[in-house]
Amino acid sequence: MAALGGRGPAAAALLRRGPPPGLGPGPRRYRYKEKWAATTPRIPSTRLALHHFDVNYSLQLKELWPSVRAGLLCEQKYGALLNNFSSLDYVTQELELLNATDFVSEACKKVQQSQQGAAAEEAGRGESRSQEGFGEGTTVTQAETMIQAEMSPPHRASISSNIKCYTFPRGDITRFCPARPDILGLLNYYLMDAASLLPVLALNVQPGDFVLDLCAAPGGKTLALLQTGACGHLAANDISISRAKRLHQILRSYVPTEIREAVSVTSCDGRDWGQLGGGTFHKVLVDVPCTTDRHSVMEEDNNIFHKRRTKERQMLPMLQLQLLMAGILATKPGGEVVYSTCSLSPLQNEHVIERAVEIAETQFNISMHVEDLSHFRTLFQDTFSFFSDCRLGELVLPHLTANFGPMYFCKLCRV
Ligand code: SAM
Repeated sequence: MAALGGRGPAAAALLRRGPPPGLGPGPRRYRYKEKWAATTPRIPSTRLALHHFDVNYSLQLKELWPSVRAGLLCEQKYGALLNNFSSLDYVTQELELLNATDFVSEACKKVQQSQQGAAAEEAGRGESRSQEGFGEGTTVTQAETMIQAEMSPPHRASISSNIKCYTFPRGDITRFCPARPDILGLLNYYLMDAASLLPVLALNVQPGDFVLDLCAAPGGKTLALLQTGACGHLAANDISISRAKRLHQILRSYVPTEIREAVSVTSCDGRDWGQLGGGTFHKVLVDVPCTTDRHSVMEEDNNIFHKRRTKERQMLPMLQLQLLMAGILATKPGGEVVYSTCSLSPLQNEHVIERAVEIAETQFNISMHVEDLSHFRTLFQDTFSFFSDCRLGELVLPHLTANFGPMYFCKLCRV
């Protein structure tokens, strides 16, 4: 007590509360002072993230949240995106022997079947119409247009059949072996969250299209865009030089030199792209930085919920909006933009879309139309769990039996 005597009211308060841990009575040599390292977070970022999600996503997803939460906290599933540039002789057989299937070609089959069904139905109806005199003076193209307009979305869907991605069936959590190089050294597949392919499929690249991948690194979606074999030119950009190096590495490991020459990799701030290359692209992918929900609840490293990054996290919707606006301005009239995140947050998803459409209209006199992608739910329901109440765009929910995502994607067409 004598030792604390000179410290005035603080010492008195300390005495009232009793000695702090480690400073209790006892021989001096056994006493220690507990140290708080300024850099050690008291609450792990993963716990902060989970708490934040519990509060917000339970309101948004209601009774679905517990199962989505369980999915987020368990090992995620992968898909094997086949590398069409490597020799694939045995790969598909090997994967099929393991009971994996290519979910993209399964969807293409569904589209074909429903188109055939619709055509047969229409032929039947056409006959009765012509008997009623309905078809007189109608050209074949007009008739086709009428059929297209009457078709429900799955019938109209067009999916790039060049992209092949194998996944294990629902409930099967087998892991893929690491990719192997072919005799030219190109790897045979790229392991990625299979839901990451959906934004690329939604972009629906057509032969000769000029494509911009505004936030491209590390490059899974860039590689998928190249697998369509349709890009006339591909501009892949990422602000981070170190991540752009990983993108270069992926291109070197998967893409032959002559194809790589049609890809330009840059490291600019994507927000400036509208000024740099305004209105030149047919297709633009804006796969923005986000709260990466799965990473945020599982990994302490580089976690956006770290206290130090609070401001950065709060500013994400603004950055996302600026990037989407730059993507819209980079698109030609008639061109298309796909916006995507790997977050469940409506603030980073639908709200960003709504604000961007409004700003494009009011400040740039550009009309953007949000395309209905609900047919994706029908086409890919065997592989992914979709949220059925998304106001705009589509959202893949993690689920223990199909643990992909989260992946939000929405397509905007520049009218
Ligand atoms: N599309 C990538 C893929 O499939 O591999 C993933 C992209 S990741 C979700 C978001 C990327 O945006 C990060 O690599 C980050 O470096 C980049 N980024 C962040 N701010 C940016 C900006 N202002 N301009 C361009 N890229 C940015």
